[in-house]
Amino acid sequence: MAEMADKCDGEVVMPVVFIGHGSPMNAIEDNGYSRALTRLGGLLPIPKAILMVSAHWLTKGTWITAMAAPRTIHDFSGFPHELYKIDYPASGDTALAVSIKQALNMPELSLDYHAWGLDHGTWAVLKHVYPLANIPVLQLSIDFNQPEMFHFELGRKLGYLRNNGVIIMASGNIVHNFNYINWDAESIPYDWAIEFDSWVKDMLIKRDYAALVNNARSTHSGKLSIPTLDHYLPLLYILGASDESDQLVFDYEEIQNSSMSMRCFRME
Ligand code: ZN
Repeated sequence: MAEMADKCDGEVVMPVVFIGHGSPMNAIEDNGYSRALTRLGGLLPIPKAILMVSAHWLTKGTWITAMAAPRTIHDFSGFPHELYKIDYPASGDTALAVSIKQALNMPELSLDYHAWGLDHGTWAVLKHVYPLANIPVLQLSIDFNQPEMFHFELGRKLGYLRNNGVIIMASGNIVHNFNYINWDAESIPYDWAIEFDSWVKDMLIKRDYAALVNNARSTHSGKLSIPTLDHYLPLLYILGASDESDQLVFDYEEIQNSSMSMRCFRME
């Protein structure tokens, strides 16, 4: 794209993208959020592949999907039948997965040829951003035994992929508290959800990544917004993989269901 920063001897540096995904229903609903993702798809460059960090693949050690044809995983229950029929038939990229393992040289990083695939953290988002499913997708798991800084540092190690035509995308939620979820269409956001989402926005603008890595749960609003780290940790990969010269662009902001921040942003 013409406005893409040109940082690497004429090669386009791919952006890093954070997507708040919220309820799986967003995969099939036509709303402000789904339209923002569709619009984002028109703004992003066409990458050679997407590396997606999903909040829904929590593991011991870190894994990358390496199968040629990852299956679509419907990892939720109690939702309408329509959601279970969705298939996102993007291919994988075994050679890319192998090359990432070699480049990172981490013994605790493993290749997954059979177990996982694309969970709804990935396909519910990509269905809107790249509806043709014609770009290979790799998923990266989250080692849930590791502290916040590990995930930031791993994001930094993966940053080189941006120079190789790979978009690094992470799918989670900045505010994600299921205990306070409100399914009413007219649900009003909690004050603490607005407060924490705004704080994260401010820290992103200030590039205060140390605060986002170390202090997110130090306040009342932070504790309520991140009752467990699974949906917050994907954000840290994006911060790690970002570059000082990147421009920060907010693509969407909304609190859905009272306690889910749908904030999406990219750095490019
Ligand atoms: Zn989720």
